[in-house]
Amino acid sequence: VPLLLQDFLKRAVYHYPQKTAVVDGERRFTYAEIGKRVNRLANAFQAYGIGKGDRIAVLSPNRLEMYEAFYAAFLLGAVIVPLNTRLVPADYEYIVNHSGAKMFLIDAELAPLIEPIIGQLQSVERYVSLPVEGFKNHNGWLIYDDIIESASENAVDVEVDERDMATILYTSGTTGRPKGVIQTHRSLYMNAINTIIHVRAEDEDVLLHTLPMFHVNGWGTPFSFTGMGATHVMLRKIDPKHIVHLVQTEGVTVACMAPTVLNMILNEPTSKTASIPQNVRVVIAGSAPPPSFVKAVEKELGWTFLQVYGMTEVSPFVTVGHIKKDIRDTADEERIHRLKAKAGISMINVEARVVNEDGEDVEPNGEEIGEVICRSNSVMDGYWLQPEETARSIVNGWYHTGDMATIDENGYIDIVDRKKDIIISGGENISSIEVEGTLYEHPAVLEAAIIAIPHEKWGEVPHAVCVLRENANVTEEDIIAFCRERMAHFKCPKSVQFVAELPKTASGKIQKVVLREPFWKEAG
Ligand code: ATP
Ligand code: MG
Repeated sequence: VPLLLQDFLKRAVYHYPQKTAVVDGERRFTYAEIGKRVNRLANAFQAYGIGKGDRIAVLSPNRLEMYEAFYAAFLLGAVIVPLNTRLVPADYEYIVNHSGAKMFLIDAELAPLIEPIIGQLQSVERYVSLPVEGFKNHNGWLIYDDIIESASENAVDVEVDERDMATILYTSGTTGRPKGVIQTHRSLYMNAINTIIHVRAEDEDVLLHTLPMFHVNGWGTPFSFTGMGATHVMLRKIDPKHIVHLVQTEGVTVACMAPTVLNMILNEPTSKTASIPQNVRVVIAGSAPPPSFVKAVEKELGWTFLQVYGMTEVSPFVTVGHIKKDIRDTADEERIHRLKAKAGISMINVEARVVNEDGEDVEPNGEEIGEVICRSNSVMDGYWLQPEETARSIVNGWYHTGDMATIDENGYIDIVDRKKDIIISGGENISSIEVEGTLYEHPAVLEAAIIAIPHEKWGEVPHAVCVLRENANVTEEDIIAFCRERMAHFKCPKSVQFVAELPKTASGKIQKVVLREPFWKEAG
């Protein structure tokens, strides 16, 4: 029996027909209703010529139609290409053309990003508008509600194999031009099973989609939680007040959030005074937050923090910050927070190792640094139309993550830095993540990034880019002195720059490549 993503929805429709499947603003649909709507959409897609292997690009914030389009495409063996909503028209031109999409679903509010480049999108045969409030069909595209309305509710009959492509998901582009990661039904299915096991998904769960569904972390959860018959609550825009409101009114039990979003909630003045709803049983987060941050989430918000580590190429999960029972039973709170801030131990169905340049496992002493490599049923098939990139990253079946880490005697992996972000100063490796951890301890610092800038004597030195809290009053010297009291001097930033905002990817990651650029340009 092939492992197919549509089977998660089929199970929910069969066993939980009357349960609320998706909440999107005022709209609520049960699994029975969603099942029918998805069948209609699949028939409509088919009528417009979509078949096996055809790509459907989707540009939309989280909304009901996006969820439905995923499943409709899977029923046809078609391939979803979800697009990041924060790109510029030239990026869309590149990605849509690179993917060769035949159909393009676009949230009406985002249409102005695409209209100017339509002449350049050669492969697209049909455009479909996803209406928003006050929507007027000014560009004559098909309208989602219309095509669903007139189509049959009967199941489509297409044979799909688990090795068939389900998605081409372009990477965040944190370190360069996005690459199209090919995920099959099988790779996403296995990751969904991992999620169900490690997050303990249940039918009573209510999942808040705070991460964009075009990002792999926000993208995998629709399968696991759907399969269990849980409820999905869509979130269109990140707004900490609205998130807390939804958590309360919808009884949210699980949310995946970027640390930057959790930080916004923590920094909401109302978060301190108003009682934060305690129905959240776990908040899942990635991206190396410092232990003090984990502590703040658990103590101030009262939400259990679960770290996951992964990447688009592994669909996405590699490790989980599960605390082993013997450690849980004996360690003090501080050690637990420190462990929870690490990437953790490999998930079931994933083999993760930390290796040196010769491909040998590093000493498991929590000190020697190597690259994380992994092997699993969830590793991508490769990068779409980029065989050389694929061959570079998957070697003898092992995916090379480009992340540098240590591993301790209990098997806990701790991400030190990305290979590309590590600062090499006078022959010493400096982890930008570690230095940022110290900066975050400074009461005036709201957000911080450490980047390598060129230096005549040391090759590279750490430079800090900080966003200060409102009314904070500190100088460059204050920040440097604060670091020098707490860290080896060679690790401390040599210069500090204050900015109003840091450049981020749509999933909330700081784009250090953008911050580094001006310094290295000047240096030639
Ligand atoms: P690109 O590959 O285009 O540069 P990206 O690597 O940011 O972008 P993603 O696949 O979204 O794209 O992100 C995966 C990366 O995020 C990982 O390789 C790792 O560097 C970082 N990451 C994810 N989870 C964690 C975590 N728990 N701790 C530390 N880093 C993490
Ligand atoms: Mg990457």
